[in-house]
Amino acid sequence: MSTGQIERVGVVGCGLMGSGIAEVVARSGADVMVCEASEDALQSGRDRIERSIGRAVTSGKIDPLDAKLTLSRFEFTPHLEDLADRQLVIEAVVEDEEVKTAVLRQLDQVVDDPTAIFATNTSSIPIMKLAMTTRRPEQVIGLHFFNPVPVLPLVEIITSLLTSTETSDRASSFASDQLGKTVITSPDRAGFVVNALLIPYLLSAVRMLESGFASAEHIDTAMVEGCAHPMGPLHLADLIGLDTTQAVANSLYEEFKEPLYSPPPLLSRMVEGGLLGRKSGQGFYTYSH
Ligand code: NAD
Repeated sequence: MSTGQIERVGVVGCGLMGSGIAEVVARSGADVMVCEASEDALQSGRDRIERSIGRAVTSGKIDPLDAKLTLSRFEFTPHLEDLADRQLVIEAVVEDEEVKTAVLRQLDQVVDDPTAIFATNTSSIPIMKLAMTTRRPEQVIGLHFFNPVPVLPLVEIITSLLTSTETSDRASSFASDQLGKTVITSPDRAGFVVNALLIPYLLSAVRMLESGFASAEHIDTAMVEGCAHPMGPLHLADLIGLDTTQAVANSLYEEFKEPLYSPPPLLSRMVEGGLLGRKSGQGFYTYSH
């Protein structure tokens, strides 16, 4: 298995997370091929990356020359076959097992490098389930980044019972040495460490609102002003995306059958109504893009 710096990375899905992951990978010096489901989604992802790098220049985090160099490392494609020469592919498509397994199955067919790593940014789906849809489960691993990726240092690394030590060493060194992230290892159980703790807390806040116990503003103010959280749970759920929050809750519930993981009806109704939080402009709060 090859070692050293990973130079050619593919990122599949360029929404909230994929765009942030692609940005930090390009800033680390690697070439990034970004793949999206459609030309429109590709353009939105590209705009999101350019805006984020623009903000990093304005705030003095990177200089304009570095920004130009970073942008020159990107290629964009709607065709998964264009990822054939990648050493590492990180999938960050929607939190839907069927969509993820279809992407991984296709990647397994098109990626030529026999040592390539397939990483998933899933928030909750057990890695084993995804790994077994490929012919190389020993090369499948969870690399779970946090939103916003350029700001939050953590990456959870999740190995399945079949992930090889070479894959996990290489992925771990990629995240810590190449990207400069703080790495923790998490068990291959739905939700891993962070979401197993975070999701029941967010769902409790939704239940509190739904039952009329407290208003959204009071719930959020309570946790910001009383517990020094940087943002309240309903703002955070809006930021994560209510569809993603619901999907993660469903995976946790399916795995553990504990009522605390079950999505409350208000969350389900909001998702069914397209009220997805910040990304759709309306969630528990209203946003102007
Ligand atoms: P998102 O809805 O913002 O983006 C998902 C993207 O996937 C969309 O742009 C969509 O067009 C694209 N997509 C769907 N099917 C595709 C396909 N077949 N090929 C290529 N692209 C496809 O969602 P997100 O918040 O970026 O979440 C992506 C993943 O990251 C999920 O697994 C989620 O659980 C995980 N995650 C999310 C957060 C968060 O805070 N939102 C944090 C950590 C991990």
